[in-house]
Amino acid sequence: MKYIDEFNNPDLARRLLDDIHATATGGPWAMMEVCGGQTHSIIRHGIDQLLPDSVELIHGPGCPVCVTPLEMIDKALEIASRPDVIFCSFGDMLRVPGTGRDLFRVRSAGGDVRVVYSPMDALGIARRHPDRQVVFFGIGFETTAPANAMTVHEARRLGIRNFSLLVSHVRVPPAVEAIMSAPDCRVQAFLAAGHVCSVMGTGEYPQLAERFEVPIVVTGFEPLDILEGIRRTVHQLERGEHRVENAYERAVRADGNPAALRMIEEVFEVTDRAWRGIGVIPRSGWRLTDAFRDFDAERRFDVGGLRADEPRDCRSGEVLQGLIKPHQCEAFGTTCTPRTPLGATMVSSEGACAAYYLYRRLEVPARPVQVQEATTVG
Ligand code: SF4
Repeated sequence: MKYIDEFNNPDLARRLLDDIHATATGGPWAMMEVCGGQTHSIIRHGIDQLLPDSVELIHGPGCPVCVTPLEMIDKALEIASRPDVIFCSFGDMLRVPGTGRDLFRVRSAGGDVRVVYSPMDALGIARRHPDRQVVFFGIGFETTAPANAMTVHEARRLGIRNFSLLVSHVRVPPAVEAIMSAPDCRVQAFLAAGHVCSVMGTGEYPQLAERFEVPIVVTGFEPLDILEGIRRTVHQLERGEHRVENAYERAVRADGNPAALRMIEEVFEVTDRAWRGIGVIPRSGWRLTDAFRDFDAERRFDVGGLRADEPRDCRSGEVLQGLIKPHQCEAFGTTCTPRTPLGATMVSSEGACAAYYLYRRLEVPARPVQVQEATTVG
């Protein structure tokens, strides 16, 4: 399979690993893979277990479902519960817990919640149901923003008035800046997400690499992509360098995808954004510009003021910032499983807790549940 089998070649993987082992002599080095897709690939293929002890991979906040704030899930639940609404979303979002329920529960209570595979599918539903309000849950990083922007653009061009977007877009570079600025940050280098850079290019990274003196290596998602990213990062760390390197040349150009960038710029503007479990990161998100504000579901359904408090027993904020590994959370595999998730990181297909549960739970057994002694009331 072109570009799949080639990037799983065990002989090449061994050579890259040998190079990493021979080079990583001056650590210990801690590098963060930003993207949840990379985390899953690393855990699934056991890449972290093949590295020398001097190289640690820290899992970053790059899972779009995981970082969608609780209050945004609650806004989705509120809108989806309305009888005149068809609420459309990618499947991952349906099991993400909001305050007390999720979109599946809204659907089982009679809400018209539909899984779609692209925002254009949602626009098609709006065309077929002119008497209903159709809302698409527009979450994600720079990767999904162009398609969502294009859909809104198309809705306006076609004069479709019963379509709107619940926008929760986040941008990666401000998150990198926030992670590096935290006082307890241990990260010394980044494996940047290749698909994000295929849209945005690499232009935002040199000033971050310079300011925080960290190597940033743009990396793909197959095992050899990740090993090559780690190899280049280790070489920089050992030499005391901090440059931006592109190890995903087959997909990423320095200037990204200009057509996609034009579409984002026309429809969205940069805004401060809350990240679930982390808090507000300045200039880390997008919202619709004034010209497209009529398509803003928050405005249309007047849910902008909704606020929510994160549950205390979920430590996903620490997981997303690389402060703990998922199995170090007390709830991992006991009160929190993919069937009974307490946080989005356990339910998302890119979530770090889900990756550990899928591939590591037999190696990193969950902590036993603390059974509290029964007390007699009265
Ligand atoms: S294991 Fe569950 S409760 Fe713990 S951080 Fe992950 S999602 Fe939250």
